[in-house]
Amino acid sequence: MREREGCHADPRLRRRRRGSGPVLAHWLTRHGFSVTVVERAPAPRMAGGHAVDPFRSAMNISEKTGVLPRIGERATGTTRMSAHQEGSRRPVRVDLTKIFDAASDRHVEIMRDDLSAIHHDAARDDVEHLFGDSITQLRMDTWSRGSVTLVGDAGYCPGPAVGGSTSLAVVGASVLAGEPARTDGDHERAFPAYERARAEHIRGSRAGAPSAAKTLVPTSRLGVWGLARGARLISSLPAGPGRALLVDNTVGTSIHELALARRRRERGLRRRRRTERARRANRRDAGPTCTSTPPPPVRPSPRSSGGCGPRRTGPPREPPRGVLDGGPEP
Ligand SMILES: Cc1cc2nc3c(=O)[nH]c(=O)nc-3n(C[C@H](O)[C@H](O)[C@H](O)COP(=O)(O)OP(=O)(O)OC[C@H]3O[C@@H](n4cnc5c(N)ncnc54)[C@H](O)[C@@H]3O)c2cc1C
Repeated sequence: MREREGCHADPRLRRRRRGSGPVLAHWLTRHGFSVTVVERAPAPRMAGGHAVDPFRSAMNISEKTGVLPRIGERATGTTRMSAHQEGSRRPVRVDLTKIFDAASDRHVEIMRDDLSAIHHDAARDDVEHLFGDSITQLRMDTWSRGSVTLVGDAGYCPGPAVGGSTSLAVVGASVLAGEPARTDGDHERAFPAYERARAEHIRGSRAGAPSAAKTLVPTSRLGVWGLARGARLISSLPAGPGRALLVDNTVGTSIHELALARRRRERGLRRRRRTERARRANRRDAGPTCTSTPPPPVRPSPRSSGGCGPRRTGPPREPPRGVLDGGPEP
């Protein structure tokens, strides 16, 4: 592997480890840079952390890195979730495969540290790692200043409600690794180009966060109920409509709002049925005379009773087979 002149141990190519760090390190080395990764933790984390969901964009990069089979091996394999609601004895069972399929056509759930370790292994032989060391923490108004740039959570500040921030970090790392290669190591051109390439996407993801937060962290009992019903609804639908519902959700209609709308519709339907029943009962009490608007003239039918009941308005039809003749023909 060629080493780009003047780039060895350059501070701008030092990276922290974990989600975006190993990906950035790997791709920088593939572009010919020499990389030092500084990690505050004393050793590679292997404990598992929490589950993350790399989506298609991140999976494509993992495929190019050559680590897809290992990611598949380490996938959590979670397919079902049972949520227990306070005050309800029946758990809400959610088919997670439907939710995942609806969210992305290429997706895997994996523990964060497993994903990190897999990408770390891919670059292990070509990257220098300094564990138990620390980079000075920075506060910056922009992603880049001088020879320093930010990637992943440190730069994008996605917050808990931005879905797929692991994917944002992985894609950001791969884009960032490509820019110095294009500008021959000139960070003054590379970093703004990286920011231009990713800023709009990141801003878009962050813009959706408030409505996602409303969906994922409901603040009322009704909201919790709606979220559970929404998840159950998507679980019960085939992939296509479920996907449409989730896509709709990302542009502003939250899952629980959909469930609440459905509940309102059902309530309205029940109210209309009650009113209709009451009206019919009133009519019965008023006697046998037809008081409603006379129905439109109909052709006399041999079966027509001539009363107030439902009338067939078309020509007389054959009675359905199997009803009058004792059953279908063999
Ligand atoms: C509870 C929880 C659940 C989540 N669920 C999901 C999910 O389902 N899907 C999803 O896509 N994302 C999820 N995320 C977000 C996801 O974990 C992050 O977006 C992703 O790990 C970002 O990668 P990163 O490299 O930017 O940061 P990190 O993975 O946090 O890595 C940063 C690394 O830098 C090291 N470090 C920190 N400070 C210093 C320093 N001063 N010097 C040296 N090293 C330092 C840290 O030790 C760490 O190893 C979740 C996050 C949390 C907390």
